[in-house]
Amino acid sequence: MPIAFIGIGSNLGNRIENCVEGVEEISTFSKIIVVSSFYETEPVDKEDQPDFINCVAKLETSLSPFDLLTFLQSVENTIGREHMEKWGPRIIDLDIIFYDELVIETDELIIPHPRAHLRRFVLEPLSEIAPDIIHPVLKISVSKLLDELKCTKRVVKVGGFSIACSQKSTTYPQT
Ligand code: AMP
Repeated sequence: MPIAFIGIGSNLGNRIENCVEGVEEISTFSKIIVVSSFYETEPVDKEDQPDFINCVAKLETSLSPFDLLTFLQSVENTIGREHMEKWGPRIIDLDIIFYDELVIETDELIIPHPRAHLRRFVLEPLSEIAPDIIHPVLKISVSKLLDELKCTKRVVKVGGFSIACSQKSTTYPQT
């Protein structure tokens, strides 16, 4: 079964709960193998916004990359819509970082995610759960990408989160 890594982020509302909800929704259509710790991270690109909580989930999925993207977008819409009145529509962001060793470049979907290797908020949690995975375009391991990263944005681990081999055993971080 294909393995995919999903970057999960939230910077509105109860950010950790939003990420957990995202993982729980993903577990309804793909098997969660493991989820990294949560990290509090400084925003990049658009800097005048609240800090994010980020984590990375490793999945086993029978969905094609394009179907996986469609399902992830429906999760973003569902969680966003549910929380829209109180917190606004963009409370969760789900990105496909890797899908096996596939390289895809279309208008709709780019895999590996084109900015993953530049972002500490992706590489820190990814390196925690998959340090030896090789970036299929750059041909460098995740841990080496992290070692060589120039991005100095603040990324601080705030709590552990493990969902191991079971879709129901969610452990909330001890913070
Ligand atoms: P954003 O709102 O910044 O997460 O961007 C979402 C847009 O990025 C969507 O229109 C997707 O079609 C597109 N996209 C391209 N590659 C990816 C990827 N690897 N994972 C998630 N979205 C992607």
